[in-house]
Amino acid sequence: MVHAADLIRKAVMRLAWHTGFASTAREHFGGLGSIIMLHRVRPDCVSPLGVTRSLSITPAFLEQIIVSLKSEGTDFISMDEVVERVKSGKRPGRRFVAVTLDDGYDDNFRHAYPVFQKHAVPFVVYVAPGFIEGAAVLWWEVVESLVAKADFIRIPDGPEWRCGTLSQKRSAFHAIMRYFSYTLTELEQMPVLREMCAAQDMVCSVAPDRDVMSWNEIRQMNRDPLCTIGGHTVHHYNLKKLTAGMVAQEMHLSAGMIEDQLGRRPQHFAYPYGSAKAAGRREADIAASEGFLSAVTTRHGTIHAEHRDTLHALPRISINGRFQKLVYAKTMMSGVTTPIANAGRRVIQA
Ligand SMILES: [Zn+2]
Repeated sequence: MVHAADLIRKAVMRLAWHTGFASTAREHFGGLGSIIMLHRVRPDCVSPLGVTRSLSITPAFLEQIIVSLKSEGTDFISMDEVVERVKSGKRPGRRFVAVTLDDGYDDNFRHAYPVFQKHAVPFVVYVAPGFIEGAAVLWWEVVESLVAKADFIRIPDGPEWRCGTLSQKRSAFHAIMRYFSYTLTELEQMPVLREMCAAQDMVCSVAPDRDVMSWNEIRQMNRDPLCTIGGHTVHHYNLKKLTAGMVAQEMHLSAGMIEDQLGRRPQHFAYPYGSAKAAGRREADIAASEGFLSAVTTRHGTIHAEHRDTLHALPRISINGRFQKLVYAKTMMSGVTTPIANAGRRVIQA
């Protein structure tokens, strides 16, 4: 699926790069470095309607980014070191990249980890124990499969959507995403999704046993000093929709569950969804009081010395499956797209 907005973004980024503007502007906008955000890394992108394609990049593209940035002298560092560099202001002349992956998709172990090993690149995977233990599912992917299969979806006492044609399916997908995100409460989502799946005779999971990593796989990866496992709540709820007590509980319980499995409490955290609608000042304060050293959002931006005061609201650069070209990744990491995406602001904090 081609998005008009994507075409414009791509054209602007190519122009910024090829005119040399991005590399010149990097001195002003690039800051200390970038935290890049990935979700899925796999050679084949399976997205029945093309609507979740942005979540996947190929291992080859991941490797291309690493090789290219390393050849320019970029340091690949862990989140521990990001915190250290931002706090101390040390090595300002060396630009860094920290690699983060959200949700703990199973392909992180099978396809991304070998690339990180080959190039000795530290990485963080933010895992939600609810996904691993079946208390939550990657519902956006289940909704995509559901809409791909169904001709009609009706929610008891709720709205209904026609999904006979491809274009109806795509609009139904986006409407259901909005319904789940803004109409239902976080606690209603799973029961409603289960009912929707039952009505279509579908199992309520992405693909049995092949969606997120098992604790065994996470343990195996965690033995490698390159790997950091971070927290991502238990149930992957939008924290802004919960009470402060529930937010603290989601953070606290998830850290405890990870510690039970790995023997070490996670030190770093990622807010589920991570946009301004899902994480703000209140969530940052709670993450800090829960003892996390850092917390990342999904807001678009590079890392600057000013972030020493807001280590629990660090922006990231999303490496998106619809933008799999070095020129786009490097332009975003130069920081020139930060003010474009954030009403002129160079430093993005909560
Ligand atoms: Zn997530």
